Amino acid sequence: MVRDAVRDPAELALLLDLPLAALGARGGAGFPLLVPRGFVARMRKRDPDDPLLRQVWPRADEDAVVPGFGADPVREQGLAAGGLIRKYPGRALLIASGACPVHCRYCFRRSFPYQDQLAARADWDPAITALREAPEIREAILSGGDPLSLSNRRLTDLVAKLEDTRVETVRLHTRFPVVVPERVDAGLLRLLERTRLRTVVVIHCNHANELDASVAAALRALAADTGALLNQSVLLRGVNDDADTLAALSERLFECGVLPYYLHLLDPVAGAAHFDVDAVAGRRLLAALRTRLPGYLVPRLVKETPGELSKTPIA
Ligand code: SF4
Repeated sequence: MVRDAVRDPAELALLLDLPLAALGARGGAGFPLLVPRGFVARMRKRDPDDPLLRQVWPRADEDAVVPGFGADPVREQGLAAGGLIRKYPGRALLIASGACPVHCRYCFRRSFPYQDQLAARADWDPAITALREAPEIREAILSGGDPLSLSNRRLTDLVAKLEDTRVETVRLHTRFPVVVPERVDAGLLRLLERTRLRTVVVIHCNHANELDASVAAALRALAADTGALLNQSVLLRGVNDDADTLAALSERLFECGVLPYYLHLLDPVAGAAHFDVDAVAGRRLLAALRTRLPGYLVPRLVKETPGELSKTPIA
């Protein structure tokens, strides 16, 4: 549960049986540590380089000022209005919540002004009205933050309003099923099963160690009730930047009923430069994956280029 998540670095070190000093100096003070206990339980004890720990630990490196890395790396803040972001034709992204179940240190929205752009701040109506005025939008992407931070009641209300537009597909981008699998409860499954909209759930997982038995059960339940269940990952130095790790991730996702979708090059957000893996290394990794996995388990390596009408494939 997020309510009792670990927020104190000293407590996290204690739970992992690590001296605080072994984790080095801390940075990123404006984006505090937040990690659910179930996710901590999947980290290896006494290993400061654990790939799950690296995703959530606020290292001093975050305070480095690195040219090319900024607060709005994909330049979407200027595109947001009334809680909607329209980047690509035919679909719109609805900022449904500013809350997350975990704080991922590499997140490209770590400086996003959620308070200005939450569709839900007062009610859904401005975003729904904007969707009605743009009938060419056939897919609503619920994002954030994490849309599963909303209660099932709020989510049901939102989906009911979307059903009353020209939208045909609702897509949820969420890290909840991986970091807090208990969020995949009967109410959520019922909602996905009953809506007349086509449903797509895109989870976010970067390493096979994130997918323990409780997560696998949640994902299989989701797979049964949603039209498509896909995963997107970020290529992260020290977490998943080798072919063995990426192959194990794809295979484990498939065991859980999930297909790998995107592998993103890091968006250059301030505070995350130490995770960066360049496109040349990314291409080399994808070439290695192609020699050992069936095509449907090889994710598409992409990067987001501000102003482009789709993600840019890294061929
Ligand atoms: S928006 Fe997603 S990637 Fe960013 S901190 Fe929240 S859960 Fe992590």
